[in-house]
Amino acid sequence: MTQTSPGPQQVDEASTREVDAVVVGAGLSGLYMLHKLRGLGLSVQVYERDAGVGGTWFANRYPGARVDVKSMDYAYSFDAELEQEWEWTEKYPAQEELLRYIEHVADRFDLRPHIRLRTRVTEAVFDEGAGRWRVGTDRGDRVSAQYLIMATGCLSASRLPEVPGLEGFRGDWYHTAQWPEEGVDFTGKRVAVIGTASSGVQVIPLIAERAAQLTVFQRTPNFVIPANNHPLDPDDQRSVKARYAEVRKANRESGFGVAFPEATKGAMEVPDQERHDYYRKVWYDKDNSLVSLLSGYNDLILSKDSNDTIAQFVRDRIAEVVEDPEVAEQLQPWDHPLGAKRPCLGTNYYETFNRPNVSLVNVRKTPLTEITPAGIRTSEKEFAFDAVVFATGFDAMTGPLLAVDIRGRDGARLTERWAEGPRTYLGLAVAGFPNLFTITGPGSPSVLSNMMVSIEQHVEWVGDAIAAMRAQGKRTIEATADAEDFWTRHVDEVAQATLYPTADSWYMGSNVPGKPQVFMPYPAGVGLYRQTCDEVAAAGYNGFELAE
Ligand code: NAP
Repeated sequence: MTQTSPGPQQVDEASTREVDAVVVGAGLSGLYMLHKLRGLGLSVQVYERDAGVGGTWFANRYPGARVDVKSMDYAYSFDAELEQEWEWTEKYPAQEELLRYIEHVADRFDLRPHIRLRTRVTEAVFDEGAGRWRVGTDRGDRVSAQYLIMATGCLSASRLPEVPGLEGFRGDWYHTAQWPEEGVDFTGKRVAVIGTASSGVQVIPLIAERAAQLTVFQRTPNFVIPANNHPLDPDDQRSVKARYAEVRKANRESGFGVAFPEATKGAMEVPDQERHDYYRKVWYDKDNSLVSLLSGYNDLILSKDSNDTIAQFVRDRIAEVVEDPEVAEQLQPWDHPLGAKRPCLGTNYYETFNRPNVSLVNVRKTPLTEITPAGIRTSEKEFAFDAVVFATGFDAMTGPLLAVDIRGRDGARLTERWAEGPRTYLGLAVAGFPNLFTITGPGSPSVLSNMMVSIEQHVEWVGDAIAAMRAQGKRTIEATADAEDFWTRHVDEVAQATLYPTADSWYMGSNVPGKPQVFMPYPAGVGLYRQTCDEVAAAGYNGFELAE
C-alpha cells in the first residue's frame, strides 16, 4: 500500500517565539502574502505541511496535471520584472513548469528563510488578553502572532470515498492530490481510476497509454471541453507582455478574472445556426478557454433553456467521438447545467474510451461496495487491480480551514461557528476571530475565478488593511456580526439567482457526506467584488471594528 502524504518528521525542540504574522500555507497565496508582509516590515513565519513550496502545484503532480487558465493570465502580476522575465512554454503549462515558476518566485524574493516545511499548523487560539494568536504545529512549534493568515487554499484537503477495505488492499493506491514525488510507473499494470472530474479527466488518458488495462469508475459524467493546448508562440507572448498592464487591468475588472468581451445577448435571442456556429468555433479554436465558452451569451449560467443549448452541443460532440454508442451515452452528462459544476478541460479524454484497454464502469448503476485485497467490488462483481487511483476530490473551501482547530473570542471554535455552513464578511474575515484573514475564503469569488487574480486581490487588501492599522496605531481588526450576517445572506441571494445551486457539486459541499449544503463561493464576479472590497477599505473599513 502506498501512502504518499509527507508525514511529520522528527519532533523538533519546542519553541515559543513572537512574530508579527503567521501565514499558513506556502502556495501561491502564502508566498505572495509573505512577500507583501515582509515589504511592510513585519516578521513572518510561514508553515507549510508539504515538503516544498507550491501548494496545489506541489501536491497535484499526477500525470497530466496542468492549469486550466492560460499561463499569461495565471502568472503573478505584482512585480513587473518578474512578469516580463518569466517565459511560459505553453498555453496551459504542466505541473512541473508551474512548480518551477513558484520555486523561482520563492528564490527571487528570498522567501525560503521564513518558511518551515513539513510542518502542519494544528491549532490557533486567540488570546484575548494579549490580543494575539497562539499557534501550534504538529512539530511542536509554539508561536505567538498578532495576525493569522490562512493561505491554505480552497482545494487542499483531499478526500477518499467512504468505501470500506482500503487498508487491506494488496496493490498500490494513490490520490491525485498526494502524488509521490518520484512518480509512478503504470506500465503493464491493471489500473483503476475512481473519479471523472477535473483530476480524473486529466490523468485517465495518460494512464491509459501506459497501463495494460484501465478501468474507469464513473459516478457522474462531466462536461469535458477540449483544452486545445499548444506551445506558446514567442511573438504572441511578447505582444501580451508589451501590453501586460492593460491585460491585467481588464482581468481584474472582469467576471471570471480573465477578460472577455461582455456578451450582450442571451443564447435564445440568436438564431439556432448562429449559436451552433459560435459553440463550434470555440470548441475547435486553438485559443479557446472555459471563459470563452461560458461568456459567449450572457445567460448561460442563469437560464436553464439557454444552458441546455450548450449542454446539448457538448453531448453531441461526445456521441461523435466515442465509437461505442453505449459508452458514449454513459459519458453524456444530463444531471447538471454546464458550468454549475466546474467544467473540465481535457486532452484526448473522450477519445481514450475508444482504446481497447480502457473500460468504463457506471457506479451510479452498480455502486462501489468494497475495496478488496485484490481490487474493487461493485454491487455487480469484483475487479482485480494492481493499482487504484483516487481522483475523488476534496473537502473544498472550508475543509482546509476547519482542519486547524481555530478558536476565537471566548474560546469559540470555527468548526462550531460554521456548523451550518461558512459565515464570513467578504470571504476575508470572521466575526469573533480578530486579526484572522482567510485568503480566497468562502464568500469570495475564489474558485469561480482565475485564482491568481483573486489571490492577488486578497493579499493586497489584507496587506493594505494591516498597513492602515499600523499607521493608525490599531491592534485588532474584526468583522462585526452584522456585517457578517449581511454578507452571508448576500452571497446566498446572489447564488440563488443563478443555476449554480441546482447542481450537486463541491461548490455546494454535496461531495462530502454530512457537510452543510451551502453555495460557498461568491458568484458576482471579481470586478464587482473588488469594487466592494475597495469601498469597504476607503470608508475606513466599514463593517469592521478596529481597536487599539
Ligand atoms: P472533484 O471535482 O470533486 O471530482 C471528484 C470525482 O470523484 C467525481 O467524479 C466524483 O463523482 C468522484 N467520486 C467521489 N467520491 C466517489 C465515490 N464514493 N464513488 C465514486 N465516485 C466518487 O475533484 P477533482 O477532479 O480533483 O477536482 C476538484 C477541483 O480541483 C476542480 O473542480 C478544479 O477546480 C480543480 N482542478 C483543476 C484542475 C485544472 O486546473 N486543470 C485539475 C484538477 C483539479 P461525483 O461527481 O458523482 O461526486
